Amino acid sequence: MARTGNKNVQAKLVLLGDMGAGKTSLVLRFVKGQFLEYQESTIGAAFFTQVLSLNQVTIKFDIWDTAGQERYHSLAPMYYRGAAAAVVVYDITSMDSFVRAKKWVQELQRQGNPNLIMFLAGNKADLAEKRKVGFEDGEQFAKENGMVFLETSAKTAQNVNELFYEIAKKLAKAS
Ligand code: GDP
Ligand code: MG
Repeated sequence: MARTGNKNVQAKLVLLGDMGAGKTSLVLRFVKGQFLEYQESTIGAAFFTQVLSLNQVTIKFDIWDTAGQERYHSLAPMYYRGAAAAVVVYDITSMDSFVRAKKWVQELQRQGNPNLIMFLAGNKADLAEKRKVGFEDGEQFAKENGMVFLETSAKTAQNVNELFYEIAKKLAKAS
């Protein structure tokens, strides 16, 4: 039977990761197509929406961009609870941020939502000459944890739309 009409999906998406990894920059690149060299640190969390259409499915993202600082850690469950998808972001020039990303993934796995779709973004791919985290390290970790992995750059827009399309694709499939 032919499929008629559009399907609408509303999906809560949360970004987690170390402060400075580029979470806000990725969201602003996706939502507004802009990039700021001096992006102000997020306090608590910021909320954005964006709509993507894919085949017959329209996905409305409710995006929670969290602050990476340890002092806001206790707030994180408020944002990832009930989320359909989570993007864990690290900075490829910071091994600390990669270690922190792994901790976020462990926390997400422990929080007991087996349907949460998880993505790993190695951001600042434009700074490859200062790279501290190998592409293979990100790829391997993502594979072990059933995550989709991309290296992104909010600055050059490399793989940013691709990241959100991958998320939309998975959400459309799961809906
Ligand atoms: P957040 O704390 O994870 O939200 O990180 P921000 O989005 O605030 O970014 C922290 C800093 O890194 C800012 O100065 C951004 O301009 C910069 N930044 C973010 N993404 C990139 C990127 O892809 N490439 C480069 N070169 N700088 C970036
Ligand atoms: Mg931020």
